[in-house]
Amino acid sequence: MKRIVVLGAGYAGMRTVKKLASSGVAAQIVLVNKNPYHYQTTQLHEVAAGTKEPADITFDVAQTFANKKNVQVIIDEVIRIDQDAKSVELRNNAPLQYDYLVNCLGFESETFGIKGADENGWPIIDINTALAARKHLEDTLKRYKTSHDPNDLRIIVCGAGFTSIEYIGELVYRLPRLAKEYGFPLNQVKIDCIEASPKILPMFDPKLSQWGVKYLEKRNVTFHVSTPITEVKPSAVMSNDKEFPANTIIWTTGVHGSHVIADSGYDQKRNRVVVTDDLRVNGLPDQFLIGDVSAVPNPSNGRLYPTTAQISIAQADCVAENLVALMNGQPTKKFVFNALGTVCSLGPKAGIASIDMFGHWNLKGWIAGVTKKFIADRSTLELTNIRTMLEGD
Ligand SMILES: Cc1cc2nc3c(=O)[nH]c(=O)nc-3n(C[C@H](O)[C@H](O)[C@H](O)COP(=O)(O)OP(=O)(O)OC[C@H]3O[C@@H](n4cnc5c(N)ncnc54)[C@H](O)[C@@H]3O)c2cc1C
Repeated sequence: MKRIVVLGAGYAGMRTVKKLASSGVAAQIVLVNKNPYHYQTTQLHEVAAGTKEPADITFDVAQTFANKKNVQVIIDEVIRIDQDAKSVELRNNAPLQYDYLVNCLGFESETFGIKGADENGWPIIDINTALAARKHLEDTLKRYKTSHDPNDLRIIVCGAGFTSIEYIGELVYRLPRLAKEYGFPLNQVKIDCIEASPKILPMFDPKLSQWGVKYLEKRNVTFHVSTPITEVKPSAVMSNDKEFPANTIIWTTGVHGSHVIADSGYDQKRNRVVVTDDLRVNGLPDQFLIGDVSAVPNPSNGRLYPTTAQISIAQADCVAENLVALMNGQPTKKFVFNALGTVCSLGPKAGIASIDMFGHWNLKGWIAGVTKKFIADRSTLELTNIRTMLEGD
């Protein structure tokens, strides 16, 4: 029997295995993930800000597939892929041979080589980093009562992309409670968001992103656009000669693909591989690469699609179908992506959204917040089952 190995139990990997397992394909499906749990990456900022607990956004990978006889789950870390031997090197287990490989190892934090970013910035890329960022923030705010150091009440968020804005939204929602709990003056908390490009949330209609910016500015957030970060010090962010002091520095400037991509000799850029139109790897016909390790050109303009959970799930559906086709000696199909829109939450009760379903909708306020919650529930359902979804909150 052929063996299909799927690496990574994120959106792309979970969905691929779920689809393959119920496809009736005559193959052994092996899913490798470094943690026993899947985490909803799109909600990590909530754990980092403390509005959600890890249990709210994680579920057990092996349990999800417990009733699927054709699925084996291995909890281990992938070190590299030996392309010639068609095997995956694991940290704790023997190398794993594959007939077909689906690589969905996801993203890591990008520092763009900026001095001190690794050492002094707190990234939000998985459960452990989200919890570490939260602990640092809470310890620092708590300390103010005895230190009276104004920098203990200053928070800098580096970058103004999705993760940064969603994190700030959760933070401004939670701060009043933290102020009561730790006895610090809420009106003296200062949040600075520092962004190199001239625009915040450029993927939205300017009126909508402006609404989002105003919403946060009213809650004590200051945006600094066209301000490239040149260095991160232990208690300050530098933009050339300008210094922004703070004792909490959140590093959410962007991501690149898993380091395993470069370590495994793929033709890559920032650990992303440009894939073929059926999501395979040029020159490696037994391999598919999807999710944040892949780079998919948009056929209408040649530019790469942004990496999102939405496109990861759509890619997984296409790959599962293509694997079944290959096993049956049939041709594969091209990947076609119909984006459903974009939602950016601003805390649990507000957001902005640009939706392309039954026409085009620009939404703001609580309705966008509800839309985000609906999407999070829906993606849980797409990866697992109704029970897991209902247990999530
Ligand atoms: C805070 C935040 C908010 C976001 N909000 C949205 C949103 O609203 N909408 C949206 O569409 N997208 C959003 N994104 C982007 C989205 O989360 C990613 O595009 C998506 O997670 C990519 O899915 P993936 O399956 O490729 O990778 P991942 O979700 O990164 O999953 C990779 C999996 O592989 C595992 N893994 C990694 N390395 C190894 C290894 N060496 N060995 C074994 N296992 C390994 C990881 O533990 C993980 O389980 C957001 C991202 C962040 C950080």
